[in-house]
Amino acid sequence: MAEAPVPVAEVEDLDVEFRLRRGPLGGTVPLRAVRGIDLAIGERETLGLVGESGSGKSTTGRALLRLIEPTGGRIRLDGQDITALRGEALRGVRRKMQMVFQDPYSSLDPAMVVAESIAEPLDTHLALTRAQRTARLAELMEQVGLSRRHLNRYPYEFSGGQRQRIAIARAVAVHPRLVVCDEAVSALDVSTQNQILNLLEDIQAGSGISYLFIAHDLAVVRHIAHRVAVMYLGEIVETGPTDRLFDRPAHPYTEALLSAVPLPSPRRQRERERIVLTGEVPDAADPPPGCSFHTRCPYVMQRCRVEVPAETPVEGGGTVRCHLRG
Ligand code: SF4
Repeated sequence: MAEAPVPVAEVEDLDVEFRLRRGPLGGTVPLRAVRGIDLAIGERETLGLVGESGSGKSTTGRALLRLIEPTGGRIRLDGQDITALRGEALRGVRRKMQMVFQDPYSSLDPAMVVAESIAEPLDTHLALTRAQRTARLAELMEQVGLSRRHLNRYPYEFSGGQRQRIAIARAVAVHPRLVVCDEAVSALDVSTQNQILNLLEDIQAGSGISYLFIAHDLAVVRHIAHRVAVMYLGEIVETGPTDRLFDRPAHPYTEALLSAVPLPSPRRQRERERIVLTGEVPDAADPPPGCSFHTRCPYVMQRCRVEVPAETPVEGGGTVRCHLRG
């Protein structure tokens, strides 16, 4: 039997803990923003990571890129354990992992012309001649649907969609293996969102790049992701191939998230039962015992309040953590 391919990026039992300042005396309490999660992203694959704000999605993306320190677990890139890399060794693997943010101003210096912004990673990681550098900049602009004439302009001279194209050009400039897109299209209107999603897909088809696509907008995730992982309170509660997860969600939290997404057909929209989540998202510094979703779950049982649900395979692919499926 052929061996399974090594994932491009993998986290195993990942834990990220912050210290939160609480109380008038300035004492701190631990907050486990990410609690023992496992994820794997294959070559040329887009993994969607969804959940409400505060679920730990962005922290997971940043920990995977080693932009914040994990407190436990392992991170691998192309099979290499990068969890404890430091200094030059870490800079070496940074080339292979890039990020696109919601606000391109986070990655584009407003005081730099586009050419300087895009050239920064080229200059840091690749020893190109002047002619090679100029050619690569022009090639990148073309790849993201802009013109080389734009290279000498400043970010404020572009629309939001064009700025995101520039941020993507910068992210893919040094041929990374993985790009983490953190709410990368959330600030754009729907038609510009679709153009940027199509651009990301074209780049993937041409280069084999992998994406971790973090978003709270499920319609966007359905468009681009091959597989989806759902996070709640720092844990992965469900994973699965996109079509299975959207058509037959196995976890009540996924079901609730999906029931808030409008359907294209008015008839299906009328027929569908809307699940409205009651209760606040619990304090992440003091998560509930048992199933962490039990304080808001419409199907809660006594067992859910005390027993942590185990990870169970789902028919059609993926896994779920829920006693209804155990
Ligand atoms: Fe709801 Fe219980 Fe399943 Fe948790 S384990 S999602 S509380 S039914």
